[in-house]
Amino acid sequence: MTPLTQEQITAYKAKMPATVEQEPMAKHTSFRVGGSARLYVVVHSSSTLLEAVEAALAVGIPFYLYGGGSNLLVSDDGFEGVIIQTAHRGIEVKDTNVSAEAGAITAMVARTSVEAGLTGFEWAIGVPGTIGGALYGNAGCYGGEMKDAVESVDAFNLETKEHVRLTNADCQFGYRNSLFKNKPYLILGCQLALKVSPDAAASKARLEEIMGKRKDSQPLGQSSAGCVFKNVEFSDPKELEILSRSVEVPEAMKASGKISAGWLIDQAGLLGKTIGEVSVSKKHGNFFVNAGQARAQDILALISLVKMKVRDDLGIELQEEVQYVGF
Ligand SMILES: Cc1cc2nc3c(=O)[nH]c(=O)nc-3n(C[C@H](O)[C@H](O)[C@H](O)COP(=O)(O)OP(=O)(O)OC[C@H]3O[C@@H](n4cnc5c(N)ncnc54)[C@H](O)[C@@H]3O)c2cc1C
Repeated sequence: MTPLTQEQITAYKAKMPATVEQEPMAKHTSFRVGGSARLYVVVHSSSTLLEAVEAALAVGIPFYLYGGGSNLLVSDDGFEGVIIQTAHRGIEVKDTNVSAEAGAITAMVARTSVEAGLTGFEWAIGVPGTIGGALYGNAGCYGGEMKDAVESVDAFNLETKEHVRLTNADCQFGYRNSLFKNKPYLILGCQLALKVSPDAAASKARLEEIMGKRKDSQPLGQSSAGCVFKNVEFSDPKELEILSRSVEVPEAMKASGKISAGWLIDQAGLLGKTIGEVSVSKKHGNFFVNAGQARAQDILALISLVKMKVRDDLGIELQEEVQYVGF
């Protein structure tokens, strides 16, 4: 990456005085990995977010926007530009509608909605990070996904330079996919359409139940970025047939139309596989865990090894869910 000039840095800081230099991204990602952002600024409102991005465009420096850093792999060389963190965390409940700003913590939105007597967003209690990140990747688990709850999304279209309110259909949500992965939008916030809970106590109990399940099945005490790979959706029965030649696919996965990437990694004998200080978790094959001093380079090497072995042994091409920054 081309180094920023001192003139660019000075000009950016003049426009955004809260900017700091050389901020270690390992401090801000759940993987605890990554070199420094040359410039780094935290924004506390949609208007400041727009100012931070417009300043980067005006000064001609690359920018990267993130929320909780729970789905990121940042290069050991860091990012030669400005990294902008969304920290506008407002949540508002009106009747069965919940509005959340991009930087709202997803788990807080889940808890707030349940406490307001609403149902439909309990599943999100264990998803780390922010609503912006959750919308970007159409986060989901335990039978729910953003797609089911979103009524509309407020965003800024960087191509047309317009504020827009997108409907659920406009967002083109798919499995860990959305419009935002394919077009340059800044997500500013969203409106969720939930329902009045017929049994508020049951909704509260569901939050605890989900957290308990996650603790049992995921290495939550260790640094990771959640699932490294997407589960494998198969539409063509041939793909399933090829896989079934090597392993016996559980009926539940066949019925769901999705093969768990963690299960495939387990079948390829890769649980516990380690490169440097990063390992495939022995508890969940789709989680890579950092023993403390892992480098992004080691994580990349482990991703590549896992992809090759799963492809060679099982004939399946895994695709990363984790987002790369600065590579
Ligand atoms: C222990 C653990 C468990 C997890 N479990 C799940 C799970 O069950 N289900 C699931 O789906 N995910 C899971 N994840 C992954 C991750 O938490 C989700 O993808 C989450 O929604 C990411 O939110 P974030 O704010 O941390 O996004 P970040 O990591 O900060 O960013 C992710 C992407 O979103 C983009 N982005 C963020 N905010 C904006 C914005 N305002 N406008 C435009 N783009 C934006 C970023 O540019 C980046 O490309 C897990 C992660 C961990 C560490």
